Amino acid sequence: MKDSAILVGRRPAGADGKILTFLLREGGKVGLYYRRFPRRMKVEFLDPLQAGELLYTPPGENTPGRLHAFHCEEVWPRVRADFDRLVCALHFADAASQMTREGVPVPEIFELLSAVLSHLEKGADPGTLRIIYDLRLLQAAGFGANLGRCSSCQAELSASMVFFSTRAGGVFCRDCRAGMEGRIRKIGPGAISVMRKALSLPLHMADRLRAGEGLKREILPILGEMFEEVLEKQSPSVLFLKKMSASRR
Ligand SMILES: [Zn+2]
Repeated sequence: MKDSAILVGRRPAGADGKILTFLLREGGKVGLYYRRFPRRMKVEFLDPLQAGELLYTPPGENTPGRLHAFHCEEVWPRVRADFDRLVCALHFADAASQMTREGVPVPEIFELLSAVLSHLEKGADPGTLRIIYDLRLLQAAGFGANLGRCSSCQAELSASMVFFSTRAGGVFCRDCRAGMEGRIRKIGPGAISVMRKALSLPLHMADRLRAGEGLKREILPILGEMFEEVLEKQSPSVLFLKKMSASRR
């Protein structure tokens, strides 16, 4: 099969092989076995954060998928040359990989990842892009943040008394936050406004969003906690352990 792909992860497999994880434009995420044959003279470097056209065989029931050819067209050189940008880009790639499942098509996540990497390459602010990316990635994966009325009683929120629950993934009024479990943070009107804009702005204008250092310090930990909550909910091992303990009761 043929698809546009971004290499988002790599891990060793066997003595001299690797499993490469690609995010595909049409085909979702796929893990492919790859081994470089020593006799071939052509040297290939396959690293996360490369994009291009991929030829592959999808995984079968008992066989890993196989990489046939990867024609790399983009490596984002300015991102690679700057440590902060590179760390940010690797977070984008890793988060996309974690929030998608093999074989489930998610073209909007592919487009989102391509767009933020391109903005990062052109010099957009990494922290602000992370706000846009994380919120939209969570939304595309079905965990969109509620930034409107109180998530519980639907009351209009007064700008000065808004609380955010990372477990519920939304805002709450002062009365409703009392009964909430998990981490609750007070969140200011500036942060709410930036997060709303991050979700509504057209992707090609992502570099227009402005968030000062204070707002980034307020918003980014919230997004990090949302990922933790969501990944724990999604993790098959955690679900399995919960089922095991429930069945013993
Ligand atoms: Zn409420």
